[in-house]
Amino acid sequence: MPLLRTEGFVLRAYPLGEADKIVTFLTREEGKIRGVAKSARKSRRRFGSSLEPWSRVSLTYFEKEASELGRVDACDLLESAYRLHEDLDTAWLLAYMAEVADQFSRDRQAEPHYYRLLGSLLGALREGLPRGVALRYFEVWTLKLHGLLPDLSHCAGCEEPPGRADLIVDLASGSVLCQRCCGAEGPSRVALRHGGRTVLASILREHPSILASRKLPSAGLKEVGRLTSASLLAFVGAPFKTARFLSVAEEVAW
Ligand SMILES: [Zn+2]
Repeated sequence: MPLLRTEGFVLRAYPLGEADKIVTFLTREEGKIRGVAKSARKSRRRFGSSLEPWSRVSLTYFEKEASELGRVDACDLLESAYRLHEDLDTAWLLAYMAEVADQFSRDRQAEPHYYRLLGSLLGALREGLPRGVALRYFEVWTLKLHGLLPDLSHCAGCEEPPGRADLIVDLASGSVLCQRCCGAEGPSRVALRHGGRTVLASILREHPSILASRKLPSAGLKEVGRLTSASLLAFVGAPFKTARFLSVAEEVAW
């Protein structure tokens, strides 16, 4: 059985029989992997708190041939997310982020940018990045790094840059049009106004720790939220289970 050593985040852990757990990791070098942590349920000493969601761990893992499920040999805690989980609303945000990241990450396919982004975002949350900003930052970059964020620099119809005018994103076709070319908002159409695009530009340009000390306008954040929520939903096809637990001010369109 080949041995693998890598660093990763725990995305989720769930019981397997009386004694064990199945753990999903998002690792730096290998992308998403799943493994059985023997005796993790029976003895807390075996893995300590390293199997809690968003723990950053140093992982030793045995791969099994012809099985996507390996065996977790050692899982040493590098950085705990325990303090973040003490706040209930932040805990739900982390649960949502874990569910979305699990859906978007592919098995055994490293995504170093995404991995770094998640680490930076957790760091910024510890430094006081507001939850509502963290949520949109996470969604925008999840879409962006998976090629799903529409290009808002110009209208796809007349090819004009929007200036201060509204842009309409048609989620069914993925096209971005100005109001002259598109007409009104509709069921599969989301408008992004100048304020929303300014917030989106900040999210795309700045490191999340910078945004911890800068106030982003809530109206713009809401617009970005409408776009990201609708885009994620259009891609995944069904709402994320944990989305309904996000606090009302942050959830916007779910
Ligand atoms: Zn146009």
